[in-house]
Amino acid sequence: MNDTHDITIIGAGLVGSLLALGLAKKGYQVTVFESRPDLRKADISAGKSINLALANRGIRALKQQGIFDKVELLLIPMEGRMVHIPHEDAHFQPYGLHKDDVIYSVSRGALNALLLDEAQKYPNVSIYFEHRVSSIDLGDKTIKFVDQDKAVSFSQIIGTDGANSVLRDAIIDKHQTSTNEPILSIEKLEHGYKELCILPNSADQHKLLVNALHIWPREDFMLIALPNLDGSFTLTLFMANQGNTSFDSLTSADDVLKFFKINFPDVYREIDNLTVDFFNNPTGSLATVRCQQWHDEGTALLLGDAAHAIVPFHGQGMNCGFEDCFDLLNLLPPAQSSSLDWQDIFEQTQALRKPNANAIADMAVENYIEMRSSVAKASFQRQKAIAAKLQGWFPDRFSPRYAMVMFDDIPYHQAQTIGEVHKQLLTELDKWQQENGELTKEFALQKLDEYQL
Ligand code: FAD
Repeated sequence: MNDTHDITIIGAGLVGSLLALGLAKKGYQVTVFESRPDLRKADISAGKSINLALANRGIRALKQQGIFDKVELLLIPMEGRMVHIPHEDAHFQPYGLHKDDVIYSVSRGALNALLLDEAQKYPNVSIYFEHRVSSIDLGDKTIKFVDQDKAVSFSQIIGTDGANSVLRDAIIDKHQTSTNEPILSIEKLEHGYKELCILPNSADQHKLLVNALHIWPREDFMLIALPNLDGSFTLTLFMANQGNTSFDSLTSADDVLKFFKINFPDVYREIDNLTVDFFNNPTGSLATVRCQQWHDEGTALLLGDAAHAIVPFHGQGMNCGFEDCFDLLNLLPPAQSSSLDWQDIFEQTQALRKPNANAIADMAVENYIEMRSSVAKASFQRQKAIAAKLQGWFPDRFSPRYAMVMFDDIPYHQAQTIGEVHKQLLTELDKWQQENGELTKEFALQKLDEYQL
């Protein structure tokens, strides 16, 4: 049993700053070290994507901290996908049946700034910017920093320092032996991403339908667009890094213009500074990081991308990290409590979260195929329609996997397992419908019973 109430957090990104707030509200003394300058003062991007999709799991964690009403002011609802297929009119695919089945576009920087503001309202939170941690000694419980001589001590430490976590390195160093299974696996995606922009029109309005996530699925690559509050859209091109059609293959402004003109004829003229941005903006890399060991006894714990970086195709990386905070903060008693057993709490957190992180990691990889290819296919649209029918007829027995992940809080691993059964059912019902005509409610019910749904 260890009854210290001082917690050190590494990384004041989205997850670290929400966690700092939650721990402060429970009465813990919180110290945060962040490598970057304070994004509220410096002219820096918040890193990675400019905007992202916030969904139910993230919202639940923000509500737990009583700050969702403030976050709401930053949000643009996206009610479905606007799918752009060459030589066809763009068509809208609603995300769900209910009016609340929406996800929200939010600026990463604005959300991070709000979370930092909220955390710093508590006198028991200290945030040190421009403190890049270089190494952590879990034995003598000290942290060292880049370009600084000082070493500081900690009692409990939580790593929310993202996909290249330093705390994760320290945990692996301690727990990886030559005989046990590899603790860390990093699966690099051979596709990367690049952000571009559509500025507002002369009336400061969005040039595309605002309440939608736009997708241009092109089988081997795709472009997406999420709206921003200032009337602009952030576009992200996802594509192979190398090969015939790849970031490597587009080497001149002419190549880029030609590529966009051929593949995105309805939008390329709207993209501002296309060729300049294409070459100036970095090509981001994507990977799935799985770590078998998230904690070190009662001393250290990993959360967010540090524990489970995933590819962005389900829009769930931040949402999953926020859910990590939600679950940990539910497990953790108030700081004044006499029954604080850190080891038990860290073990429970890993046991609760790791299967879910693995499940959403798998579903996120799968969703890349759905977004860049399946959404454009007739069979996908037919099966979507059948799923909507089943949900309408039997709302207590059928909710599509996308809805379970995005609009519900059923554990990800359960959504994944049920989703596998759905896949078989929908394939069978689609085939049946092709052969026999419109699906009947009676037949659908018979099948739900058969599949034990
Ligand atoms: P990070 O955001 O990486 O924050 C880590 C913080 O730690 C940073 O502030 C960093 O500066 C700091 N840090 C790192 N190393 C050190 C160190 N050594 N010392 C001190 N500080 C350090 N998720 C969604 O839910 N919805 C989406 O729509 C979505 N879209 C995405 C689109 C793209 C293109 C990408 C790449 C990701 C997307 N994600 C999305 C995933 C999401 O960005 C991450 O899951 C989320 O940022 C994780 O937050 P985090 O705080 O754990 O890590």
